[in-house]
Amino acid sequence: MKTIDDLGDLRGKRVLVRADLNVPLDGTTITDDGRVQAAVPTLRRLADAGARVVVAAHLGRPKGAPEDKYSLAPVAARLGELLGAPVHLARDTVGDSARETVATLGDGEVALLENIRFDPRETSKDDAERASLAADLASLADAYVSDGFGVVHRKQASVYDIAQVLPAAVGGLVLKEVDALRRATDSPERPYVVVLGGSKVSDKLGVIANLLTKADRLLIGGGMVFTFLAAQGHSVGTSLLEEDQIDTVKGYLAQAAEAGVEIVLPTDIVVADSFAADSPHDVVAADAIPNGRIGLDIGPASAELFASKIVDAKTIVWNGPMGVFEFDAFADGTRAVAQALVDAGTRGGFSIVGGGDSAAAVRRLGFDEAAFGHISTGGGASLEFLEGKSLPGIAVLDA
Ligand code: ADP
Ligand code: MG
Repeated sequence: MKTIDDLGDLRGKRVLVRADLNVPLDGTTITDDGRVQAAVPTLRRLADAGARVVVAAHLGRPKGAPEDKYSLAPVAARLGELLGAPVHLARDTVGDSARETVATLGDGEVALLENIRFDPRETSKDDAERASLAADLASLADAYVSDGFGVVHRKQASVYDIAQVLPAAVGGLVLKEVDALRRATDSPERPYVVVLGGSKVSDKLGVIANLLTKADRLLIGGGMVFTFLAAQGHSVGTSLLEEDQIDTVKGYLAQAAEAGVEIVLPTDIVVADSFAADSPHDVVAADAIPNGRIGLDIGPASAELFASKIVDAKTIVWNGPMGVFEFDAFADGTRAVAQALVDAGTRGGFSIVGGGDSAAAVRRLGFDEAAFGHISTGGGASLEFLEGKSLPGIAVLDA
């Protein structure tokens, strides 16, 4: 892969950067600016080199047309604060405003194009449509840098097609992500422990299948645990359950037993009356969840068990919270796992936190991000990487 160094002298050159600035918003307030922070080093580096930096990014899921609530304006403001210099926001993606904004950009200045997904060609399945947007983007720049790790698994105009028309390089963030994930997938130092949680088993089937034969231990928590408990014949009350996945999960349990992979399930569960922050709750044995109650976190004995299975690991991949961490009463399991990753780190283990909600949980619970080996900015992309899939936005840079 070509890196930014390979692009040569950048002074006065227009460099288009695809970044992932898809932050959660409450109205126009950014509730977690992790992705904006993560985008800064590459943008600063290009600006310091004298490039005229043009950033393309998306926000939310607009339907291929401009919509005020998906404007990147709040992101432009935050990015400007972090860079310490104003970010010039174009009012459109590749139209008159974008052209004028780029034309008036000085060396070392940064512009942000309006939400790339306001243009339906960005996500089109039609190669020619995507190519026509890539051509429009290419007319705004002399070189391309791919730095939006959260979108590299997408075959989209600003991620994939553009890299075939402009001189293209991988940005520092994507490089860091790929290096970290390769460290966990190519020849991981052992013990290699994978911790999976989050809401749905079906989201993570590919990862479970791929890591089942590679990891030494697989720890399961979060909402997906109830499908595992059901597969073992236990009742799960009103907890999250994907009945159509029970047979698949039974297959995984058998496969793990055969491969000698240890699957660790919680022994106790925090159950509540309902899915609410202030719902009355109790700890019960995992095989004795009462009818009518909902499991919202792994219990304290399980948290301790999980921590003991993590601290001696040399490689740890964690994807998906252990409980509904958004509610304080059900955040303990997630906190214990995060702490165990930190403790493993002090003993020489390398930890990766993947998944948007897991990364948000780590920040929300007040952990120092530097205490983890790597916190991925890309949920879907890191999952597909861990599934062993080829990511179009990486493959196109390798070609
Ligand atoms: P990530 O983004 O890290 O990959 P997911 O999107 O798969 O994680 O899942 C995160 C969500 O899972 C969180 O919003 C959390 O509240 C939810 N969750 C965790 N445990 C449970 C549970 N027991 N019941 C319902 N939802 C849960
Ligand atoms: Mg998520």
